[in-house]
Amino acid sequence: MTTLPLPMSAAADSSRIGADIDYELFLDCVHCGLCTSACPTYLELGTEMDSPRGRIYLMRGVVDQRLPLDSQVKRHLDLCLDCRACETACPSGVQYHQLLEPFRAAMQRNRPAAEQPLPGWQRWLLFNVLTQAHWVRWALLPARVLQALGLDRLLAASGWSRRLPDRLRQMQEMLPELPLRHRPLPNFFPAKGKRRAVVALLAGCVNDALFSATNWATARVLQLNGCDVWIPRDQVCCGALHAHAGCEAEAQSLARQNIEVFQRRSVDAIVANVAGCGAALKEYGHLLAATPQAQAGQRFAGKARDVNEFLMELGPIPPTHPLPLKAAYHDACHLCHAQQIRQAPRALLALIPGLQLTTLDEAEVCCGAAGSYNLAEPDMADRLGQRKASHLLATGARAVFTANAGCLLQIRKHMQSLPGRRWIAHPMDALWASYTGESPAILRKG
Ligand code: SF4
Ligand code: SF4
Repeated sequence: MTTLPLPMSAAADSSRIGADIDYELFLDCVHCGLCTSACPTYLELGTEMDSPRGRIYLMRGVVDQRLPLDSQVKRHLDLCLDCRACETACPSGVQYHQLLEPFRAAMQRNRPAAEQPLPGWQRWLLFNVLTQAHWVRWALLPARVLQALGLDRLLAASGWSRRLPDRLRQMQEMLPELPLRHRPLPNFFPAKGKRRAVVALLAGCVNDALFSATNWATARVLQLNGCDVWIPRDQVCCGALHAHAGCEAEAQSLARQNIEVFQRRSVDAIVANVAGCGAALKEYGHLLAATPQAQAGQRFAGKARDVNEFLMELGPIPPTHPLPLKAAYHDACHLCHAQQIRQAPRALLALIPGLQLTTLDEAEVCCGAAGSYNLAEPDMADRLGQRKASHLLATGARAVFTANAGCLLQIRKHMQSLPGRRWIAHPMDALWASYTGESPAILRKG
C-alpha cells in the first residue's frame, strides 16, 4: 500500500477542497488498475483520467495541492457517473463514492454559476420540482393531456419536437406513457392473510409521478405477501439527487425530515422500490455522521431495504399465472454496486411460471441514467444508453426488467426506436402480473 503522509496543510485549513474527506480512504488505492475495465466512462473513452484510478489520482492531487482544480480536472470528475462499479471491482475495498461525493460537494461550493454542469433553470427544476411528487404531477399535466389526445406522436412525427431546446427535448424524450389521471396511493394497505411483517414504503417523487402503477404493484405485492404497508403522506424526497450532485446540506435536510416522518410508527422495514432511493436511505447514517442526528440516521439506515431484498428475506409466496416471455434483467448500479443486491430480483423473477430469464452482456455496466447525469452529460449518457440497448437487443428478450426508475426511463428511450416491441418494467410489475393474471400489453396484443 502507498504510504504517502497526510499533507501538513490538510487538517489545518477547513476551507480547502477535500478538507472533509477522510484522507486515509485515498491510501486504500494501490493503483493496480483492476477497476478500469468495470468503469463505463473508461470503456467508452479508454482514457486513464476517465477511469476510477485516474480520478482518484486527480482528486488526491488536488487535495495534496499538487494539482490545480482546473477545468480539465473538473471535466474528468463531472463525467463520472458515481455508479460505483469501481467499488465492486476493487480488490482493495476502495470506497470511491466516499471520495467523490465530498469532493464534488466542495467543487460545487467553489463553482461559479456559469460553470455548473446544469443550467440554473434545470437545477431549479431538478431540486425544487422533481423532488416533490405533487409538483412533478402538475408539471407533467400538459404531457399527460398531449399523450391522451395522441398529439405527442403527431408532434414527434411532424418534427416539431426537434425544434425544442436540446435540454427540454432530452427531458421530453424520456417520458414514459402517462395515465391521464394520477391514482394516489392510500396511506395504508392491510396485510392479506396472516400478517408476517409491518413495513413503511418510500413512494419516491419522480417514481410516484411517472411510475405510479409500479408503486401500486409494489404495495400490493407486499400486501399479498402478508405485510401491513404504511405509506406516510408527508414523506419527502430521499435526497439521492442532491447527494450525487454535491448538494450535501439539502440532502441532509431531506434525510432529517424522512427520519422524523418514518419514526412515527414502529415498522420492521422501510422499503424502497427504486435502487437509487434505497441506496440513499441506507446512506443516512453516513450522510448525517457529523451531525447530532448521526445515531437516528444509523437506526433508519439499518431498517432500509430494497423491496426485492426484503421479499427474499421474508420468503415470497410464489406467483402462479404464467408470463411466457424471454426476459433480460439489467442490474441498476445502485442496486448491484451500492447495495450489493444481484440475486434477489433474479430469484423473484425466476418464480414466475413461463418467464425465461436470459443472460445479458455487461448487465452491471451503467445504462447512463445515473440520477441527473443524463441531463447534465447527455452525450456520454446517450453513448451508454445505446451500448445498453444494443446488448439488450442482442438477447432477443421481449421483456426487460430493472429495479430503478432512472434506468427504466433511459432504457425505454434508447429501445423505443429499435425493431420489435418490448415490455420494459420493474420486477414488481412482473410479480403483480403473475399474482393476478393481469397480462401485460405485450402478451395481450401478441
Ligand atoms: S480503486 Fe481499487 S482496483 Fe482501482 S486502482 Fe485503486 S486499488 Fe486498484
Ligand atoms: S463511479 Fe462509475 S463512472 Fe465513476 S469512476 Fe467508478 S466506475 Fe467509473
